Amino acid sequence: MACDLSALSNLDPTDPDATQRLLDQCTAALTDPSLWIWAIVFTVVCAAVGALIGKYKNAVARDALLGAALGPIGWLISLSLPVRKPAPMCPLCAKPVDAGDKHCRHCGAALSPSPVGGVSRSFREMR
Ligand SMILES: [Zn+2]
Repeated sequence: MACDLSALSNLDPTDPDATQRLLDQCTAALTDPSLWIWAIVFTVVCAAVGALIGKYKNAVARDALLGAALGPIGWLISLSLPVRKPAPMCPLCAKPVDAGDKHCRHCGAALSPSPVGGVSRSFREMR
């Protein structure tokens, strides 16, 4: 007798020993280490594929988590999400700054506003 729906449908309700045997077999199937190894390998592979998608979307951690949690459905969600813009960086110290900042909070350099990316390219080229 295997642990599946046909065994459950063919179970004799008047035989408690048969019910216990089926329950024991199903419990043994769930605690089989090979099942858990496959589940862990599948989760790691799904997270790695999600991270690859996230590499091109600038969101590696987000898409790796989506892949690990939802598998191929997470990949589809990752593919449908927009590409994240990288955080603006200080041209002098190369640390991240907020888009509206006038001065770098790390080194104090003046940041000129730019419509795209927060820090202008001309200031970056001036150094
Ligand atoms: Zn700086």
